[in-house]
Amino acid sequence: MADDYYQILEVPRTASAEDIKKAFRKLARKHHPDVNPGNKAAEERFKQLNAAFEVLSDPKKRKLYDEFGEDAAKMGFDEKKAEAYRAYRAAQASGGRAGPGGNPFGGGGVDFDLGDIFGDIFGRAGGGGGGGGFDIGEILGRRGAASRGPERGEDLTAQVTLSLGEAITGTERALSIRRPGRCQRCNGRGEAGAAGPCPTCKGTGRVRRSAGTPFGGACPTCNGTGRAAEPCPQCEGTGVVEETTRLTVKIPPGVQTGSKVRLAGQGAAGAHGGPPGDLYIETEVAEHPLVRREGDDLYMDLPVTIPEAILGAEVKVPTFQGEVTVRVPPGSQSGRKMRLKGRGAPSLKGGTPGDMYLVLQVKVPELAAPEVKAAAETLARAYPGDVRRELKL
Ligand SMILES: [Zn+2]
Ligand SMILES: [Zn+2]
Repeated sequence: MADDYYQILEVPRTASAEDIKKAFRKLARKHHPDVNPGNKAAEERFKQLNAAFEVLSDPKKRKLYDEFGEDAAKMGFDEKKAEAYRAYRAAQASGGRAGPGGNPFGGGGVDFDLGDIFGDIFGRAGGGGGGGGFDIGEILGRRGAASRGPERGEDLTAQVTLSLGEAITGTERALSIRRPGRCQRCNGRGEAGAAGPCPTCKGTGRVRRSAGTPFGGACPTCNGTGRAAEPCPQCEGTGVVEETTRLTVKIPPGVQTGSKVRLAGQGAAGAHGGPPGDLYIETEVAEHPLVRREGDDLYMDLPVTIPEAILGAEVKVPTFQGEVTVRVPPGSQSGRKMRLKGRGAPSLKGGTPGDMYLVLQVKVPELAAPEVKAAAETLARAYPGDVRRELKL
């Protein structure tokens, strides 16, 4: 008996249909004979994968497999006889016979013939390309005269880290991207030259019984047509090769951490000349030491002197859009917020841009020179009462 089908596909027994399909696709690509020419182990593994997937991808067969094992799932199946078999097995397990009628199969009860339960094993052997709704061409997007058409390539994601300034004003980045690209040699078709007799089935369109295809069936290379072109030696028939490419990416102003910039058609190349997927650039915006961002608004502390706070002043302030002159009103307290309209981050959705808030920080001189002390004593008389009189808990 072969290995457990679940183990072959490297999935738990509880795996969903989708998980099974994904696991199969991944492993089948890896072990496909076209990708591993002349590798017997890969070929054997590929056959096992097909056999496992044919059963586990079919809910009915999977159920049979779970209950009765490999043979049950593969063969023609008679539900009534299976029911009887179940009863028989239960009876055996409990040490008795299967009910008043004795063994339903009339034999000694020991040499049980699976063929009796599952019908004619070879009844389906020639029919309909192996059946089971499974088509290797569909899974792998294979080449071949009658095989699948082009498939769209996958979408890819790349990450870039930006400074806050770059995120707000927008920027350009040169990126080196490794991705599946279109094979130049065959222009993505995956075929070398014109179609001839299929090399796998020698033009018969059918393959013999083997571990992977227990009853034989339609040739997976040519989908039973008997004709196929040689696979392109560059891309081994997929139409796709790994490539490293340099792209200049325009990051629009206003992106945040987690924003995605779409580059249409820059994703993975499609198999067999299919259209490429898209490339998404996901941005991460680094923390700024002075400026805090909340949505599209920015917050920055603005240090002012005591005289500036008392008398008012015009001070120069940097913003990401350039320097501006700000009027600090006379009598400004520490913590006062001043709004610079539209000096925040632009709205990615095309709405009004955010604002920049300046938070005043009144700075005390560090050196208490005699004249500073004198000035401070004068200032002290300017407070009408206790500044902490409101401070009650
Ligand atoms: Zn063939
Ligand atoms: Zn190629």
